[in-house]
Amino acid sequence: MFDKFDRKINYLRISVTDRCNLRCIYCMPEEGVPILSHEDILNFDEITEVARVAVSNGVEKVRITGGEPLVRKGIVNLVRMIGEIEGIKDYSMTTNAIFLDKFANELVKAGLHRVNISLDTINTDRFKQMTRGGDIQKVFDGINAAKRAGLEPIKVNCVIKDNDKEPDAVEVSEYCKRNNLQVRYIKEMDLEKGEFAVVQGGTGGDCSSCNRIRLTANGMIKPCLFNDIAFGVRGLGAARAIDLAIGNKPDSGHTNQTGKFYNIGG
Ligand code: SF4
Repeated sequence: MFDKFDRKINYLRISVTDRCNLRCIYCMPEEGVPILSHEDILNFDEITEVARVAVSNGVEKVRITGGEPLVRKGIVNLVRMIGEIEGIKDYSMTTNAIFLDKFANELVKAGLHRVNISLDTINTDRFKQMTRGGDIQKVFDGINAAKRAGLEPIKVNCVIKDNDKEPDAVEVSEYCKRNNLQVRYIKEMDLEKGEFAVVQGGTGGDCSSCNRIRLTANGMIKPCLFNDIAFGVRGLGAARAIDLAIGNKPDSGHTNQTGKFYNIGG
């Protein structure tokens, strides 16, 4: 699929839940968030249908995101259902790894290729403070379990305020070198202000070569993270919604006044 700016759209990011088991200070407010009702969240058949239609139209790369995807009940079954679609060349998940120790082996058997892990510090106290209570040992255990299971290469998404010379960023980089992980720096983003930057070590945020569309947890196809445009798969059907999204994909990001990272999946 190509958009009107001749960009090849071959990457679908799927948010499978707006829920999370952490409360990262740059993502979720302290008081928590209004949670989508069960009826509003797409079921496994609906999500798989969108993925199937997207792949039949040229998508080769699929990323499972959230909120935190591993809190979605039956997540391994969903990963398997999408994994059975022929034509997916790169099948990954972005996770905070808190539950990864428990699921790593099953995810590989279900067809997942690799994981991106969110980790902004390796300091125990800072991690607890930044995630409002998270236990960093669970992340380290999850990373080791992913390695043992063969969910590689493992990429670490490290959110930075401004640059990769920040103390936490340097420590995360050194940790990644010691453990044969690939670090990528993501500058803190602001949807409403339209503040974002190209991912250091990745492809995100480079509008000129943007190759992605997103499926939100409540069934909206979004052509761009930094835009309010969205098309509902329940009303339009997967094929029409994807078509409209690509036909209306903006040349570059602007602002997003309606979405939140925890229900779009970054
Ligand atoms: S802001 Fe929009 S167009 Fe730019 S890289 Fe992100 S999703 Fe693509």
